[in-house]
Amino acid sequence: MSPSDCSPTATAPKNGARCFAANPRQVGWQTAMKRAIRSQSELRRLLGLAADPQAERAEAFPTFVPLELVSRITPGDPDDPILRQVLATADELAERPGFVSDPVGDLPAQRGGGLLHKYDGRALIVTHGACAVHCRYCFRREFPYLENGSRKQSWAPALQYIQDDESIEEVLLSGGDPLTLTDDVLAELIDRIEAIDHVRRLRIHTRLPIAIPQRVTAELVDRLDHSRLAVWVVVHSNHAQEIDFRVVAALDRLRRAGISVLNQAVLLAGVNDSVDALASLSLKLVDSGVVPYYLHQLDRVRGAGHFWVDIERGKQLLEQLRARLPGYAVPKYVIEQAGENSKTPIA
Ligand SMILES: *Cc1c(COP(=O)(O)O)cnc(C)c1O
Ligand code: SF4
Repeated sequence: MSPSDCSPTATAPKNGARCFAANPRQVGWQTAMKRAIRSQSELRRLLGLAADPQAERAEAFPTFVPLELVSRITPGDPDDPILRQVLATADELAERPGFVSDPVGDLPAQRGGGLLHKYDGRALIVTHGACAVHCRYCFRREFPYLENGSRKQSWAPALQYIQDDESIEEVLLSGGDPLTLTDDVLAELIDRIEAIDHVRRLRIHTRLPIAIPQRVTAELVDRLDHSRLAVWVVVHSNHAQEIDFRVVAALDRLRRAGISVLNQAVLLAGVNDSVDALASLSLKLVDSGVVPYYLHQLDRVRGAGHFWVDIERGKQLLEQLRARLPGYAVPKYVIEQAGENSKTPIA
């Protein structure tokens, strides 16, 4: 479909939804969440791809893709690097030895109230079950979010745990995605974390500035700007194509408020397993003032085997990246191993 097919004068009603996907009307982030695509058949239809009834059987892990992200996918291209991350395929149904439901040992690390305490000095609050996009390779695709309490009253035990352990200097908000909480609810949670004297740093792990950049509201930026805590935001982008001008502007709003912004990516077959893709991503990030932090080896979660890249291949890619990029643009290549006291460096 050419852009001219999407001109206001194009009358074919068949193109209506597709044109909208290619250039969605700007709305508030909550509306953007509400109008996200929730079925594989709809996603395929919008992008001009043939239906795949086999793949739809993979929808036990439900589909969720905001139009803001769909608009960055090239219609008609089944190999598009953004599409690959959200498109269900029959590959997900294949059993692969070693690919299990809780690959990173989150279940035994749970301390109640949605708290994970695996590493020294840092505790992670699973703030909310919702995500702004459902990534087919997600290590938490089988995490029992609903039992982990996304409502604010359930934070009390997590906050109490942090209060009781003076070694915890940094609180991470993760999820799901903590920025699916409203600004009010988030501000209240931050108030309660700030009230714990020994906490010095707040870290927010989120994909929202990438998926729905208008989530970086003036209210949010203002609250973070006025925190007594040092605030770090860690976004999650796997390919330069995800970072359009609206995303750059959202990242800029965070940085202007003095917030340090890092990126983590996952090494994914068919998405970013080439030196060109990884180099473009890093350069796009550093040019936007974002430091590439981690490149994660895929967690071996059931249903994600087709995204696996061999570690040897990963090491080669990192070596090539180091030869091409400034040192600060080369992410740490790590794997998460259950029971370890940090992410484990690979190369
Ligand atoms: C990854 C992770 C962290 C943060 O680790 P860093 O190496 O500091 O980024 C903290 N807690 C949990 C449970 C984690 O999985
Ligand atoms: S945004 Fe993160 S937690 Fe949510 S589905 Fe994607 S990888 Fe998983």
